[in-house]
Amino acid sequence: MKERFVEIPPLYADFKPGGVPGSRLRKLPLGLDEYEALRLVDYLGLEHREAAVEMEISRPTFTRLLEKARNKLSRFLVEGRHLIIGGGQVHFRDNMIKCQDCGHMFKTNMGGPLPEELTSCPSCGSSKLVDLAGGFGHGQCCRKHEEQRGSEEK
Ligand SMILES: [Zn+2]
Ligand SMILES: [Zn+2]
Repeated sequence: MKERFVEIPPLYADFKPGGVPGSRLRKLPLGLDEYEALRLVDYLGLEHREAAVEMEISRPTFTRLLEKARNKLSRFLVEGRHLIIGGGQVHFRDNMIKCQDCGHMFKTNMGGPLPEELTSCPSCGSSKLVDLAGGFGHGQCCRKHEEQRGSEEK
């Protein structure tokens, strides 16, 4: 399957209905590509054509992806599933870093400084930083794609 592109990692990736013991909840994974399709069209209001360009996939592929994502979201609401965002054949364009102490979040360019080089929060100076792309198992792979894109544009 062709790789899709997601602008930044989702800030929240784990959703549970209230009042149901965790052990009884059935998991429902939502791919990062499905999340991005919902975000671009249903949240930001983009046209399918524009969203397909953003993710670098064809318009029919995008429409199928969005339909699948909407179906999952409806199942989550109706069936009361444990929704977990992750997986999917994707790479991130930018990364998000979150400070565990003050909650400050900041965007870093995948092609820019490595998250490992960011050692303290620009807001409170804490060193307890979480690399959101890293949490989804991404980092170097996305950076490689961004570097390739950068050289193609020149
Ligand atoms: Zn902070
Ligand atoms: Zn990646």
